[in-house]
Amino acid sequence: MPIRLLIAGVFLSGCGALVNRLFGGYTAVAAVTLLAILLLARHERQIARLTAWAEKPLGTPVPEASGIWSPPFLALHRRARQAATQREELIEMGERFRLAAEALPDGVIILDEHRTIEWMNPRAERLLGLDSSRDIGMMIGHLMREPEFIEFLDQTPEKQQIPLVVRPMRNPGHVLHIRGTPFSAGRTLLLIEDLTQLDRLETVRRDFVANVSHELRTPLTVVQGFLETAKDGMTDEEHPTPSEEIVQYLDMALDHSRRMHRLVEDLLTLSSLETDAPPQEEVIEVAPLLALVREEIVALSAGRHEIRLDNTGPAKLLGSSRELHSAFSNLASNAVRYTPEGGKITLAWQGDRQGAVFTVTDTGIGIEARHLHRLTERFYRVDRGRSRESGGTGLGLAIVKHVLERHEATLMVDSTPGKGSRFAASFPGRNILTKN
Ligand code: ADP
Repeated sequence: MPIRLLIAGVFLSGCGALVNRLFGGYTAVAAVTLLAILLLARHERQIARLTAWAEKPLGTPVPEASGIWSPPFLALHRRARQAATQREELIEMGERFRLAAEALPDGVIILDEHRTIEWMNPRAERLLGLDSSRDIGMMIGHLMREPEFIEFLDQTPEKQQIPLVVRPMRNPGHVLHIRGTPFSAGRTLLLIEDLTQLDRLETVRRDFVANVSHELRTPLTVVQGFLETAKDGMTDEEHPTPSEEIVQYLDMALDHSRRMHRLVEDLLTLSSLETDAPPQEEVIEVAPLLALVREEIVALSAGRHEIRLDNTGPAKLLGSSRELHSAFSNLASNAVRYTPEGGKITLAWQGDRQGAVFTVTDTGIGIEARHLHRLTERFYRVDRGRSRESGGTGLGLAIVKHVLERHEATLMVDSTPGKGSRFAASFPGRNILTKN
């Protein structure tokens, strides 16, 4: 550029010198001034063209220019082409994202900070019974009025990560899992998963187990009854001493039929815990309940263990006494069954208005840490043989877990192999009625 300026300068002064020689000084000054004005006017025109171009819509081609203005116009032209390519790439990428979100097997909804629907994919429309042409821009709480969903929207982002099970009123017969994830500037991404099929399978499974257990109960009771009668009537005047073999067979048959009976009863208990509505809450006097559990395990232990009961907790608890009796007695009987002779077992009830905890502590065989998180699964046993020998069904802790869930209580297990275990059922303040 300085070279072009130099040439323009030399040209002007050359012209000035020539006119000066031919026509004198005044004419030379006038001629140089005129030339300078012409040059400035040309630049002015290019600047005006550039300004006019900059005001036109994006994508308008850069005007052509010559001389000193050619390089910047060319550079601008290159830039504009680059920007156009980038814009096209961005649009294409945005479109790809939109198509991918539309093809997702799950529903996706974007809510702004006022819970207004900004965008949703067709799957979300189908699952929730919404229509994007009508519902985008609407508050989601006005469209989905399920109370549990409204409550879910009010929760913190961390809590919204825990899936909510919803049966949408606008799409009856469907079971959905909804999760929320916070996302740029107060927005929330709702992810909706269809669990209808899984839920149906789960219902079929539950009904099947409940029906089979139910069907088995009567014949099993009959078989057990006959076996007991047969055993009682084995000796008469003609046969004063039955053969040892027969006694052994009958004992084994009775043993197995009792075990099957317990299994069927536990399966029925579990399936009713899974399917029945939460029971009518009643006021439970804790002391008699604990005394009953203690009596049962004293009988089960038959003097093999030292059993203590510490009751310093609240006198009354709100819940189902039948279910809580089943849970407490499962925990307590496990302590007897997994504690060798001479061991100690302590049942304790502690706490106050804010919450209370029922603990069963034993000095038994203990459980290795790697098993702890699986203990409440159905039929999960650390040692299958030992569980069977001690009359276990593998369903006790699954029952405990369900009962506690229905009471909003939680189960904690601490255990050291070879030293003993501590099972603690913690109840929230809402279950506690009166102070001791
Ligand atoms: P089970 O009928 O086999 O006892 P549970 O569901 O009651 O079934 O318990 C599951 C498993 O947890 C048991 O098989 C046993 O291995 C372990 N377990 C439960 N309670 C205790 C305990 N107090 N001490 C040691 N192991 C235990």
